[in-house]
Amino acid sequence: MSHSNISIFIPHNGCNHRCSFCNQIYITGQQKMPDEIDIENAVNVAIKSKNYDKNNTQLAFFGGSFTAIDRDLMLKYLETGYKFVKDNYIESIRISTRPDAIDKEILDILKEYKVKSIELGAQSMADDVLLANNRGHGAKDVENASMLIRENGFELGLQMMTGLYKSDFEKDYYTAKKIASLKPDTVRIYPTVVLKNTQLEKLYKSGEYEPISVEKACSDGAKILKLFYDKGIRVIRFGLHSIDEKSFVAGAFHPALSEMAQSYIYRDLIENEIKKKGFYKVLVNINEISKAIGNKKSNIDYFKNKGVILEIIGDENISRFQIKIEK
Ligand code: SF4
Repeated sequence: MSHSNISIFIPHNGCNHRCSFCNQIYITGQQKMPDEIDIENAVNVAIKSKNYDKNNTQLAFFGGSFTAIDRDLMLKYLETGYKFVKDNYIESIRISTRPDAIDKEILDILKEYKVKSIELGAQSMADDVLLANNRGHGAKDVENASMLIRENGFELGLQMMTGLYKSDFEKDYYTAKKIASLKPDTVRIYPTVVLKNTQLEKLYKSGEYEPISVEKACSDGAKILKLFYDKGIRVIRFGLHSIDEKSFVAGAFHPALSEMAQSYIYRDLIENEIKKKGFYKVLVNINEISKAIGNKKSNIDYFKNKGVILEIIGDENISRFQIKIEK
């Protein structure tokens, strides 16, 4: 049975900075702070769902900066969540927060309430990018908090963004390498999307910022995804899950972004192997055929334009993101 989160979104409360890209209301579709009843209702709905499996279900406080919200409120949320852990309805609690809102005292509290996983919004490991996007913390904060989280026995999740204001592929790839070196259990990657009522919207409209396109997000993303896969680090998300259409201004949002980026991994693998025009059979894992072919046959057409005709064949002996070429 796969992992599932009962997600409770905590909008902006707790953020003493407004990051350039962030408008939590649009991302979460919610403005009001949840109360005890909202949390209980969410858990009760999950418990009644067909795929409910208590051993793989976490109550997840996502959105704002959970450990930076009003302390009494944080404790109230944790107490409400802990009741469900104690009564065996869910396995544990998961939270997301800012790297500069983690210290030993906070971790001791989280441990007491059976928080198992902590996700940090790192976003970039380049200090100039963090500064330009008004993050209010540096790369060192990400390193320190990650170490503390791991040393204290929590599961560590790190989130990064690509295509931020003042970033480029080199800085994004550097960020991915630094994040991998912190040995997270999970990673989420979000190519930047410009939302209404954000600093990025102003920068975009003034011509100061050019958002990353879907195409570039996928081709850059493929190299970053490959880096994490090669190191055995689990990428649990690539791209925003969904956004309110009214909030979208520009940037890399596409419902199939993750599949498209994975198709680019196959494009890179094939391109590294085939240097001459001609016909080739490309063997890939049987479950990866559609990704190797690409969205709307994009990889087939891409190589056709270079005089390379491909036949993609499934082979159960080949691992994911490996290929074998036959003439
Ligand atoms: S810390 Fe997170 S929730 Fe707060 S403004 Fe920045 S991105 Fe948004």
